[in-house]
Amino acid sequence: ESLDKGLEKTKESFFTKLGKAVVGKSKVDEEVLDELEEVLITSDVGVNTTIKIIERIEERVARDKYMGVEELDRILREEIAGLLAENNTEDLKDFSIPEVVKRPYVIMVVGVNGVGKTTTIGKLSAQYKSKGLKVVLGAADTFRAAAVDQIKLWGERVGVPVVSKGMNTDPSAVAFDAVKQGVDEGADVVIIDTAGRLHTKVNLMNELSKIKRVMQKFIPEAPHEVLLVLDGSTGQNASIQAREFTKATEVSALAITKLDGTAKGGVVIGISDEFKIPVKYIGVGEKVEDLQVFNKMEFVDSFFK
Ligand code: GDP
Repeated sequence: ESLDKGLEKTKESFFTKLGKAVVGKSKVDEEVLDELEEVLITSDVGVNTTIKIIERIEERVARDKYMGVEELDRILREEIAGLLAENNTEDLKDFSIPEVVKRPYVIMVVGVNGVGKTTTIGKLSAQYKSKGLKVVLGAADTFRAAAVDQIKLWGERVGVPVVSKGMNTDPSAVAFDAVKQGVDEGADVVIIDTAGRLHTKVNLMNELSKIKRVMQKFIPEAPHEVLLVLDGSTGQNASIQAREFTKATEVSALAITKLDGTAKGGVVIGISDEFKIPVKYIGVGEKVEDLQVFNKMEFVDSFFK
């Protein structure tokens, strides 16, 4: 329900444009496909993914000799579901964490400032906590006092401990203490916030690999998850950030936030397709329950229903 509401703007804008593209047309021809291409690109699906979708539809038109415009919804739905399915092979059902040999399960959260990183960490902690999991947070974004304060605020709100050190201390020292505390206290999950300063890519890379190295002193497999948070409302900017971060570190999952209040929700499709990294969570509002476990069919359904 909140998913439907969260995607409302994207959906409305998309179908308005699609309606205009096929007005007065009965069959899908070159012209309709050109218009459709425009609709997908202006819906932030991304150029490469758009071309892929158009080519697939062209193939179907060529094969079937005829495609009525009234079929376009269904066909688009199938193609988009197919693309999402390729990279989200196993949808999560809820906020449980995977079984690991040695707990805690360690999540390193990356992303530039302002994308909703802290909020996502807070919401995730609340969700895990409510499932009875023991969480420890590490405030390793030691360059922003505000980030540390915000994580602490979430910690108090949710009732989970936050490990922090002074401003400008080495982020890996915070990660070290947080994972250590997680191990000592028998936590199920340790979530580490990191600084996201993209303007110094080499530094970012070094910082993230140092954080990883330090964690691995306790748990060789850590981090089990590198979660990149992207702001969906920035459209193609989110895509550019994904490119930068995937170059700097091995990202294993995506959280795409702020899909409510934007018409750029198509970015979820493009990013999933382009980076071949599963979208694990989407943010469709400010409340804890507005961070949702991404489910490809639910996403497509609320789009095309
Ligand atoms: P950070 O700098 O990346 O840590 O960003 P914050 O977590 O501080 O979030 C920045 C702003 O975005 C805050 O006002 C959040 O409440 C808001 N925000 C985060 N996620 C969402 C979302 O899914 N929807 C909406 N509407 N706002 C969000």
